[in-house]
Amino acid sequence: MTPPLLRFDAVSKHFGGLVAVNAISFQVRQGEILGLIGPNGSGKSTLVNLATGECAPTAGAIHMGDICLTGMAPWRIARLGVARTFQMLRSFPSLTVGQNLALAMQPGLGSGYCASVLRMASARRDDAQARGRAIEMLRLFGLERFVDEPATALSIGQQRMVELARGLCTRPRVFVLDEPAAGLSPPMVERLIEVIGRMRTDHGVTVLLAEHVMRVVQTVCDRVVVLDYGEKIADAKPSEAVADPRVIEAYLGA
Ligand code: ADP
Ligand code: MG
Repeated sequence: MTPPLLRFDAVSKHFGGLVAVNAISFQVRQGEILGLIGPNGSGKSTLVNLATGECAPTAGAIHMGDICLTGMAPWRIARLGVARTFQMLRSFPSLTVGQNLALAMQPGLGSGYCASVLRMASARRDDAQARGRAIEMLRLFGLERFVDEPATALSIGQQRMVELARGLCTRPRVFVLDEPAAGLSPPMVERLIEVIGRMRTDHGVTVLLAEHVMRVVQTVCDRVVVLDYGEKIADAKPSEAVADPRVIEAYLGA
């Protein structure tokens, strides 16, 4: 069996008196596509934010291989090869799609939002090599014709795809996706499913996927961790998880 790449050990996150994530342990193996599912408010985004350093755990530890990520700044975690997308869109409206991708390509800085702001000026330079790679990444999503369009000219679904392309441009080892199917049309969902699969096969990326759309989860995930009110209630293959009475109850009770 392949070794774990990401390891959560008894990780908790409290917001004041609210326990958003309660002593959760799980591992993401190298090359795996692991789903993180659960009703709204169950703690998916919080776990994503803990993995990428946007928030620090109240208790517990997170490791990538031998490296302890607990309390590490997001840009450092990004530099170790962890890319992410956000549940809310975060591209730069004043830049073209190609420039948004070029921002992510500058070596060693990852895809962090703040780091990107600092690099805006240099990204405006027309870098032929960066443009070529941007087009190559956009082609994965069928969006290469938009390379010179402002990011805001795209639909919400297309902008979500651009965020995925931007993350891939950083050549991540682990890609953490927070509800990438939200707002996508049915054909775009199919494209997303194909692209997530290719992230692993073509780019060797390990994926942690918080997702609400079950068709995506059931098609692409090797395994799912199911959350309910911040508790882990199942860790199983998608087909087993959806048949688990606790999981059914969590979803029906939501
Ligand atoms: P999900 O992504 O599964 O919908 P979240 O991780 O966003 O769930 O939220 C889990 C719980 O933590 C919710 O009750 C939410 O209101 C709460 N929460 C999330 N982030 C914060 C925050 N920054 N401050 C206070 N409460 C938060
Ligand atoms: Mg969320």
